[in-house]
Amino acid sequence: MPRSLTNRKLLACGACGWVHYAMTEQEKAELDGALIRYQLSEGERQIYEAEFRQCLKCESPTDLFRQATEADIDRAIGHIVTPVLL
Ligand SMILES: [Zn+2]
Repeated sequence: MPRSLTNRKLLACGACGWVHYAMTEQEKAELDGALIRYQLSEGERQIYEAEFRQCLKCESPTDLFRQATEADIDRAIGHIVTPVLL
């Protein structure tokens, strides 16, 4: 596991098992800040926001996520663990 994921809350998609980590509000705010200079249109901004509230792989909403198990995490090693905002 990358060091940055130690002590993170890891969640697996209830539909496909893709592992995500729970992002903090502060991290989200920093990302938002970095994005200001791109001046996204309203449509682009909505897509950007939606990406943090669904599975990267199958687009299931985060409501369907469950706590990641050891097996999920084993499978996740080798792919990028993506952030979600709960
Ligand atoms: Zn999924």
